[in-house]
Amino acid sequence: MSALPAAVMEQARAAIDPTEDDRRIDTSVSCSRCDAVCCRLTVVVMPEDNVPEHLVDRTSQGLSVMARGEEGWCVAVDPLHLRCTIYDQRPGICRKFAMGSAYCRDERKKYREENARAIPLALY
Ligand code: SF4
Repeated sequence: MSALPAAVMEQARAAIDPTEDDRRIDTSVSCSRCDAVCCRLTVVVMPEDNVPEHLVDRTSQGLSVMARGEEGWCVAVDPLHLRCTIYDQRPGICRKFAMGSAYCRDERKKYREENARAIPLALY
């Protein structure tokens, strides 16, 4: 995987740094009662990540990201159980995503609202 421009790297690192609000966890949220909504987000793959190359796409801005299937989920998601099939090799950004954090709660809320209105999600 080739190195990304320094400005792009900095932007990606800033995006995964949790805010103060993100550190407040809603303990009623559970992955076992979720449609793996976080696995529909754009996941930037950093050079230090060890993700199988065939699961990585490149955006028009030159970012390496987890590829997504037609339904919008990361291609590493097991569609039957909505679990990560590369859990031990998942990117750092996935490791930092906190269940029940503000980011998690916001994405779950958006997903519920857009599903209720039958609006297809396009997250790129
Ligand atoms: S790599 Fe695993 S945890 Fe990360 S978005 Fe894909 S399926 Fe989810």
